[in-house]
Amino acid sequence: MASSPEATYDLVIGGREVPGAKGERRTVLDPATNRPLAWAAVASRDDAHAAMEAAEKAFRESNWSHDDGARRVRALARLASLLESEAETFARLETRNVGKPLRESRGDIGYVVRTLEYFAGLADKLQGETIPVPGPRFDFTVREPLGVTVHIAPWNYPLLLSIRSVAPALAAGNAVVLKPASLTPLSAIAFARLAKSAGIPDGILNVVAGNGNEVGEALIDDPRCRSVTFTGSGDVGRRIAELAARRFLPLTLELGGKGPVIVFPDADLERAAKGIGYGIFGNAGQMCWAASRLIVHESLRAPLLEKLKGIATSLRLGPGVEEGVEMGPLVSSDQLERVLGYVEDARSMGARVIAGGERVTEPPLADGNFLRPTVLADVPKASRAAREEIFGPVLAVSSFSDTEEAVEAANDTPYGLLSAIWTRDLAIAHSVARRLETGMVVVNEAPTTFPQAPFSGVKSSGVGVEQGRRAAEQYTHLKNVVMHLGAARKKP
Ligand code: NAD
Repeated sequence: MASSPEATYDLVIGGREVPGAKGERRTVLDPATNRPLAWAAVASRDDAHAAMEAAEKAFRESNWSHDDGARRVRALARLASLLESEAETFARLETRNVGKPLRESRGDIGYVVRTLEYFAGLADKLQGETIPVPGPRFDFTVREPLGVTVHIAPWNYPLLLSIRSVAPALAAGNAVVLKPASLTPLSAIAFARLAKSAGIPDGILNVVAGNGNEVGEALIDDPRCRSVTFTGSGDVGRRIAELAARRFLPLTLELGGKGPVIVFPDADLERAAKGIGYGIFGNAGQMCWAASRLIVHESLRAPLLEKLKGIATSLRLGPGVEEGVEMGPLVSSDQLERVLGYVEDARSMGARVIAGGERVTEPPLADGNFLRPTVLADVPKASRAAREEIFGPVLAVSSFSDTEEAVEAANDTPYGLLSAIWTRDLAIAHSVARRLETGMVVVNEAPTTFPQAPFSGVKSSGVGVEQGRRAAEQYTHLKNVVMHLGAARKKP
C-alpha cells in the first residue's frame, strides 16, 4: 500500500520557498519500491519568469557580481563546508530519489563538495590582461559575469550534474536559475536552502522544478537569459540548441554516449574486468559516460566474458539505502521498460545473453525497477542495442583481431563522450588514445573525472566543455577596453 510522502519540496525563488503559481505538486517516487517519497512543487511558465526576474534583480542589486570576488570565494567555500557537514543527509536523499547505492551517493556528494572548493578558489582569479597595441593607447581586457545563467539538469546524478555547471557560474559572479529533472528535484532544492545559510544572497541561486518543455523552454526564451547549460539527452539537446540559436545565446550541451572500452591482449585482466564492471553497472548503467561497448581482443574474449559473468551475477541488488548494496533499481518503471526493450530487440536479432537480461520478479525487489546486470554477446551491428544509448546496466560485447579493427569499431558511432583502453603497452595507450573520437579517454581506469579536469564530448555527445578553469571563464564575457592616451609625445 502506498504510504504518504515524508516531506514537501517547494520552488526556491528570490531566496523564498514558494509552492508555485498554480499550486501544482507532483509525487516523487522511491524507485526501489515505487512508493511515494516526497511532494515536489511543479513550476509553471509564470514561475520560470518569476525566477528569472528574481535572478536579474539580485544580479543588478546585490554585491555578489561586481566586486573583486572575495565574497564569492568565502561564500562558496562556506557552502562546500556546510555540504560536507551534511553529506550523509544529502547522500541518503539522493539515494532514495535516484535509487543508487549509498556508497555511490556519498561519492557524488563528496564530488560536489570538491567542485565547490575548486571553483571557490577560482572566484577571485578570473582576470584580464593588458595587450600591446600601436600608438599612445592602453588596451586591456576584463572578465565580466554574463548575468542570469540557466542550467537544466538530468536525473542520473541530480546534484552533481547541477552543481558541475552552477558552481563555475556562481564563481564568475552570475545569478543562476537551475531546473532539475522532474523525477529528481529533491537534492537541488535542499542545496538551495543550504546556499542561503552559506550567505549566498537571495535570488542568486533559484531552483524551479517542473516539466522541461514548459519550464525549461520558458527559461531559455526569457529575455533575461544570458546563457544555457544543458545536460541530458540528444533529442532535448537539439531542441535547446534551436531555442538558444534564435537568441544567439552561449550554449553548453553535455549529451549522451555509447562509450567503447578496448581491451588489448596484454591487459591486466583482473583489473580490466573490475573497471568494466563499474563502467557499466555503476549507477545501474545510467551514466552518460557508461563504457557500454566492450571491444575485446579475441585471445581474451572467453576469459574476460567469464569474469564479467561472475561480476554481473554476484552483484548485490537492493534498495540503495541498504548498506552493502552494489546496484540499485533503475530510476523509474518507464526507464526499466525502455532498457528491457533494447535487450529484447538485441535478443530477437540473435544476441546471446551471457548474464541477466531480465527484471527481478522475486520479492522483495519485485515492486521496484530492478534489472539484473546484463552482458550481451554477438550483438548485431544493426541492432538498436549496438547503436543507441541504452542508459541501463547492459554491456554489448564484440571482439577484434588487430588494432585498426578495434579503433574503427570504437569510432563507429555518432557519439563521442568517453572511451576506455586497457593495455600495459605505453605506445599503444598513447597512439590509440589520440585516435579515439571522444572528448575523454581513460587508460587502465574505470570512467574517472575531477572538477579541475575538462569534461566534454565531441560529435553527438555535446558542445563546449565543463569543469576546469575554462568552465568558470566561459561564464564571463571577455570585454576589451582600448583607451587613447592623448597626442603622442614628441621625441626630444
Ligand atoms: P532529458 O533530456 O530527458 O532531460 C534532461 C533535462 O531537460 C530535464 O531537466 C528535463 O526536464 C529537461 N527538458 C526536457 N525537455 C525540455 C525542453 N523541451 N526544453 C528544456 N528542457 C527540457 O534527459 P534525462 O532523461 O534526464 O537524462 C538522461 C540523458 O542525459 C541521457 O541521454 C544521458 O546520456 C544524458 N546525460 C549526459 C551527461 C553528460 O555529461 N554528457 C550526463 C548525464 C546524463
